[in-house]
Amino acid sequence: RGNRVFDLPTTIFEVMSRLSEEHGAINLGQGFPDDRGPADVLAVASDALLNGWNQYPSMMGTPELRQALAGHAKRFYDLDVDWKTETMVTSGATEALTACLLGLINPGDEVVLFQPMYDSYLPIVRLAGGVPRFVSLKAPDWSFTRADLEAAFSAKTKLVLINDPLNPAAKVFTRPELELIAEFVQRFDTLAVCDEVYEHLVFDGRVHIPLMTLPGMRDRCLKIGSAGKTFSLTGWKVGYVTAAPHLLQPVAKAHQFLTFTTAPNLQTAVAYGLGKDEAYFTGLAGGLQAKRDRLAEGLRSVGFDVLPSAGTYFVVADVARFGFAGDDQEFCRRLTAEARVTAIPVSAFFVQDAPTTCVRFCFSKREEVLDAAIERLRARF
Ligand code: PMP
Ligand code: GLN
Repeated sequence: RGNRVFDLPTTIFEVMSRLSEEHGAINLGQGFPDDRGPADVLAVASDALLNGWNQYPSMMGTPELRQALAGHAKRFYDLDVDWKTETMVTSGATEALTACLLGLINPGDEVVLFQPMYDSYLPIVRLAGGVPRFVSLKAPDWSFTRADLEAAFSAKTKLVLINDPLNPAAKVFTRPELELIAEFVQRFDTLAVCDEVYEHLVFDGRVHIPLMTLPGMRDRCLKIGSAGKTFSLTGWKVGYVTAAPHLLQPVAKAHQFLTFTTAPNLQTAVAYGLGKDEAYFTGLAGGLQAKRDRLAEGLRSVGFDVLPSAGTYFVVADVARFGFAGDDQEFCRRLTAEARVTAIPVSAFFVQDAPTTCVRFCFSKREEVLDAAIERLRARF
């Protein structure tokens, strides 16, 4: 007790997944796909495990994966990246985020965070001694204004942390929004840590725009990705950071004492995966878009007020119209116990200004699972 880590609450994803299991519920809470993942990527990992080298890889990642990351940056975003000085492999995006924040923040530095925010951000900002300054996005379109940024940025701002596409809001930032953020980052001479784990999961013909590709931002951004999302293998925990050498170096210093390195066979398979053809990446987004439509239509048919979802694994529904007396946390607990369907309360992604009637459903599930969830909800509502 009294320890700043010990006193942290248990993450909402663990809490809701365990509750879901207890009630035999369909778990549309924690974000993970329920299929096997691409067979060819699995085969490469399996072959590398049995026939390859299984000792510590270099702490920055295997050359083949780092070269593949540079190739991916060129192919999708026309970014020229030097794999030797500008890429690093981490054990998941979670470690990449942690290494970035520990490596870049000094005690007393201010960090601009957009709410809703992924639940690992704030504890790590605090652990690093950073002082959070919040921009609260407003449902239903999760918008923000110039005045919101004016209020959050100051001479003490060290960096802004942006998650685009945004979990749980399923928002994809527009170019004008990114331009506004870029303007502030440059005006206040700060950095941007860009959590882009859902970079390939954008729908309806949208394109993902890394903040790093905007004018003046190449050497101010640290771009984070995750093989978990790009290859539907969330348990693998292979992430990566791309950044200019002077930004990557302090992050690597943190990484060397967090995990140091990441399983080599998984790195080999992710390197292979990043080179897959266009059809793989469009198929991934197209398949998820169809699942989004299936779940969103089902939820609407049961009476949920479904908000737009432009990307990610998620769709948010406003449950105010059910006239439920209680907050979103209580709603999700009861939904799990009574309807045996699990969702995540959106207030868990806020520390202030939280909406209290929004819940997040994950649609990266097999069709029959989504349909069964809707039938359970129909029986309850
Ligand atoms: N950032 C966001 C926004 C996420 O939703 C997640 C979880 N999927 C992560 C980071 C963590 O990714 P990883 O599993 O690669 O650590
Ligand atoms: N990113 C996943 C989600 O938002 C959860 C990952 C985790 O459980 N740590 O549901």
